[in-house]
Amino acid sequence: MNAMYISVKTTTRNELVDITSKIKELVDASGLTDGICFVFCPHTTGAITINENADPTVKTDLLMTLDKVFPVDPAYRHMEGNSDSHVKSSLVGASEMIAVEDGHLVLGTWQGIYFCEFDGPRNRKVYIKFV
Ligand code: ZN
Repeated sequence: MNAMYISVKTTTRNELVDITSKIKELVDASGLTDGICFVFCPHTTGAITINENADPTVKTDLLMTLDKVFPVDPAYRHMEGNSDSHVKSSLVGASEMIAVEDGHLVLGTWQGIYFCEFDGPRNRKVYIKFV
């Protein structure tokens, strides 16, 4: 199967964008019944994570915690001034794998798949591969 990309337009420096429905559309269109959905962020200041999609304050608290643990710090040596973004990207991680069973993503009731923006606003893409 061919590689697919999802476009994500972010509007703030730090943001979690729920991409679950876009991925579900691709699963439906693929005809895949059983396999693996690989979701990959090809950006060094973005990431992919799975977390609660019911109460939006969970997103807020996740971003607040990341800012507390990895603040902008003048001691960083990277010239672009976005080292906190790179650190968050590596710690959250560039990818997730979700099982597909009977044509559906296997996610918990309250789970959603998020693109994590750590140096926005930007136009981003997320790579999707079905195996
Ligand atoms: Zn940088």
